[in-house]
Amino acid sequence: MEILTPQEEDVLKYVIEFADKEVKPLAKKIDQDQEVPQSLIDRMKDLGLFGSYIPEKYGGSGLSFSFLVRVIEELSAACPSTALVLDGALTLFAEPLMMFGSDHLKSKYFSQIVKGAVGGLAITEPGAGSDAASIRTSAVKKGDRYVINGTKTFISNGRIAKFFVFDALTDPGKGSKGITTFVIDAGTPGFEISRDIHKMGIRGSSTVELVFKDAEIPEDNVVGEVNKGFKVIMETLDAGRIGIAAQALGVARNALEEATEYIKNRKQFGKAIADFQGIQFLISDLYTELMAARLLTYEACKAWEKHDNSVLFSSMAKLYASDAAMHITTEALQLFGGYGYTTDFDAERHMRDAKITQIYEGTNQIQRIIIAREILKGK
Ligand SMILES: Cc1cc2nc3c(=O)[nH]c(=O)nc-3n(C[C@H](O)[C@H](O)[C@H](O)COP(=O)(O)OP(=O)(O)OC[C@H]3O[C@@H](n4cnc5c(N)ncnc54)[C@H](O)[C@@H]3O)c2cc1C
Repeated sequence: MEILTPQEEDVLKYVIEFADKEVKPLAKKIDQDQEVPQSLIDRMKDLGLFGSYIPEKYGGSGLSFSFLVRVIEELSAACPSTALVLDGALTLFAEPLMMFGSDHLKSKYFSQIVKGAVGGLAITEPGAGSDAASIRTSAVKKGDRYVINGTKTFISNGRIAKFFVFDALTDPGKGSKGITTFVIDAGTPGFEISRDIHKMGIRGSSTVELVFKDAEIPEDNVVGEVNKGFKVIMETLDAGRIGIAAQALGVARNALEEATEYIKNRKQFGKAIADFQGIQFLISDLYTELMAARLLTYEACKAWEKHDNSVLFSSMAKLYASDAAMHITTEALQLFGGYGYTTDFDAERHMRDAKITQIYEGTNQIQRIIIAREILKGK
């Protein structure tokens, strides 16, 4: 299925070459060091990837959302932690500003993103995960500023982000109707990282807990309207979930291609294990599953760009592609036999990396709730 313009297809060729030659060889070390090297982030900036999705008016190239999704897929096939640096900056930080931010916020932050500055999105709290409307972080108006107090947890890009979009209660007691979305700069007095969170997969991605203690931000930092921030967050996640589907797709594709190479060469009972029909049936099923995930993800891109049933497609794509990635990476490891269970090969890393796609930006249980709600609404 074709989702890019011919011009975007040409640009993507450079991204594929970069992912294959410069990112993939570093993936194992990034996992071990638990860090994406700054030199790689700089290369992504030099290649124009940070500016790709930013409108031309703000110094970017104004390429499509579909292009961004294909970039995330290709980078994730090489190293999902590296992909998440860009994904966080663009789908999680830039997207809400693009949809709801003032011209002032767009000018101020997009000019930094095109120069490689990374952003993040801070919604989750210790007591508010799936139930995103139950946040406790507060924003109290003081003159022309807001004073923020609270804790956000599991925040991706935490150590490297220069700024975050976050949500807080501006009218407590009103649930989702009392939430406002803001931007805050890293380094704002009273706003700190309280701990690093260590993980089983995407280990190169920095995940942190953030604490606000009387941190003050100007009222200009409101994204959209006061008390209408829940909508900002939900629409951001509609786009973000397609990015996660693309991440799942990239990880699964890479795991499957590596396993396919292996079974063609590994011999048992006097022949390549790929020659056994039991293995061939498995390979057929896995490639079919991967293709179905790809088509659904690309369909979700088109739906999102047209704002046509995009909530439904975005949740379906995230749900299906992440479940497929977990299944495919698990079976791919199996195809390596005992070697797959060792760190001599990358199969175990792919399986660890795939797991998070079923959890973040709304667990797959939450996606099922959204899908059912969309299908049953008005019925
Ligand atoms: C590595 C990593 C990176 C992350 N990055 C970010 C980030 O950048 N920004 C951010 O804001 N958050 C981030 N998150 C948080 C992530 O989005 C949440 O962990 C996720 O939404 C689930 O919330 P929870 O962990 O509190 O689980 P809970 O909400 O406590 O859920 C626990 C279990 O209960 C299930 N459950 C909950 N409610 C229901 C229900 N109604 N019906 C059926 N099942 C239900 C869930 O599906 C899950 O299986 C990240 C998390 C991780 C692990």
